[in-house]
Amino acid sequence: MKVYLDYAATGPIKAEVLTEMMPYLTTDYGNPSSMHEWGRAARIAVDESRIKIAKFLNADPAEIIFTSGGTESDNLAIKGMVNSVILNEVKNLDPSAKPQDDKFHVITSQIEHHAILNSCKTLEKSGVEVTYLKPNTDGIIEVDAVKAAIKENTVLVSIMYVNNEIGSVNPIRAIGKMIEKENDARELKILFHTDAVQAAEYQNMDVDYLHVDLLTISGHKIGAPKGVGVLFVKKGVNIMPMMHGGEQEFGRRAGTENVASIVAIGKAVEELRNEKLEIRNEIKNIRDYFIGRILKEIPETELNGGKEFRSPNNVNVYFKYVEGESILMNLDLVGIAASSGSACTSLSLQPSHVIMAVYSDAERAHGSIRFTLGQNSTKEEIDYTIENLKEIIAKLRKISPLSPKEYK
Ligand SMILES: *Cc1c(COP(=O)(O)O)cnc(C)c1O
Repeated sequence: MKVYLDYAATGPIKAEVLTEMMPYLTTDYGNPSSMHEWGRAARIAVDESRIKIAKFLNADPAEIIFTSGGTESDNLAIKGMVNSVILNEVKNLDPSAKPQDDKFHVITSQIEHHAILNSCKTLEKSGVEVTYLKPNTDGIIEVDAVKAAIKENTVLVSIMYVNNEIGSVNPIRAIGKMIEKENDARELKILFHTDAVQAAEYQNMDVDYLHVDLLTISGHKIGAPKGVGVLFVKKGVNIMPMMHGGEQEFGRRAGTENVASIVAIGKAVEELRNEKLEIRNEIKNIRDYFIGRILKEIPETELNGGKEFRSPNNVNVYFKYVEGESILMNLDLVGIAASSGSACTSLSLQPSHVIMAVYSDAERAHGSIRFTLGQNSTKEEIDYTIENLKEIIAKLRKISPLSPKEYK
């Protein structure tokens, strides 16, 4: 049996999506900027996809920018927005306005994806001050923590919607509303970005409801191909492009459009709109069955992250006394794909920055495994996984120098 439980890493292209994008890889190969029939067909396809994305997010088509994926959208949101503020400030330089050491300030969290964390680190090198908020014990970034971090020179808050490792769901709407209130009361101009890559499939994605100014989604996490993403940029928000060239994407992202993949991501969100609620409950039931059986049938295991505000597809468990990498290799031998949520380099095992941020426990970070369900996951697959996990954990604990006597 083959069991894929790594949907947060990526998933298959949905059949309907592949069918929809196929003509643009074969017969309808025009460049959307061209002034002929082929070009017009491609232009229409891109425009139609933009309308579908806008509908999905309750936005205006002019607020949708297609990118090469979640990583580019995150980079463009963070660096493009902050650089635009800095540039504007330099242009309007009024010597009396700001003292030299008054840097711009950005607020994010310690549990963000590296696309956000490393974009923020880059900003720090050019003098921008960044606050990395610590999550609570459930792995959630609390509204009050964001509020307390706001300063007079804060220009951007970026908090992810759903964490990709432990599935914690952050209170994006409450944070968005709080920021609006602070902006009004204190005459600030803080913008709010959310990385919603892991949220798109199961959460409310209405940008109006969420009170966000910038929002990221990625194609390959929702049934479209790898290498395509979206950045929602609210009307009136300026961002500095990272790609300079032609006038594509309203001058905000140059380069010939990835027409087939743009068509695909539009179709993927259209499918999501139709399916969301039923699928959500089905997957949540399988998730709870899975978590319940692991915690009950394998001793000394703990769930990472809370149960209440948790993505319906995420199971992340700490297995005491064993190394996550050994569990993964053994699972792989019996055809089960999961993830350790820790980036493993050849020289050092980097423990998961997310589990470290929540639990400050390196042993826990090294002994944790993430299973993420998809729309094709079944209870039979979970049964197969549990049976194998029980054997693997018992075997590894037998040989682990960390285990107490009863496991030997
Ligand atoms: C996968 C992922 C990304 C990166 O998206 P790509 O399209 O793979 O570049 C960013 N943020 C989160 C939360 C993700 O899970």
